[in-house]
Amino acid sequence: MAPFELCSNCNRSLNKVHRYFIEKVFKQNSILNKSEIIYEYAICEPCTQNISGDISSESKNAIQSLYELHSEYLFRKLDYLHRTEKYNIESWIDRCSLTGKETRLCSEYAVSGIIEDNKLVFELSPLVVSDGFMEKLQSVLSTETKEILDDLKDQIMGDSPAVEDFIFSPTSGLI
Ligand SMILES: [Zn+2]
Repeated sequence: MAPFELCSNCNRSLNKVHRYFIEKVFKQNSILNKSEIIYEYAICEPCTQNISGDISSESKNAIQSLYELHSEYLFRKLDYLHRTEKYNIESWIDRCSLTGKETRLCSEYAVSGIIEDNKLVFELSPLVVSDGFMEKLQSVLSTETKEILDDLKDQIMGDSPAVEDFIFSPTSGLI
C-alpha cells in the first residue's frame, strides 16, 4: 500500500492528520490473468466525518445490517488472522472479507484500509469487498446516499471514462 501525500477530496496534507483511509479498486484482466488497480485514493478523517454526516441514518442502518448478516465469515477470518499473527497484506486480501469469495474470481473488488501515523492498521480492516458484495451494498442504499457517494466519486476521480460505470462503494471510513 504505497503512501499517499494528499487527501483526494480536500487536498489536505496527510502528514498533518493522525488517521486517514485508503481504498484501491481492482479489476480482473482476463487476458493477462491478473488484477490491476483501476483507481485508488486516500481520504482524511475530517472528510469522512463530513460525508458520513450527510448519509442518512436509514442508509447507515441498512449497511450495518448487511455487514452483520455477513459477520460470521468476517469474524472467523479476523480471529484466524490475529491468532496466527498474519500481519502481511497478502493474507488479508485473498478473499472477500464478507462473503469469502476468492478475489482472483472477482471481476472487480475493492480493498480499503486505515492508516494511522503512516502505518497500515491491522484490526477490523483491511477490508476486501467483492463484486458480489458491492452489488448487495448498492441494493440497500437509498437514492440520496447513492447521490452523495456519486458526488464523492466525481470529486475524487473527475469524469475519467475508465471509472464511469464503476460501482462506488462506501469505504470502511464512511460508516
Ligand atoms: Zn480531506
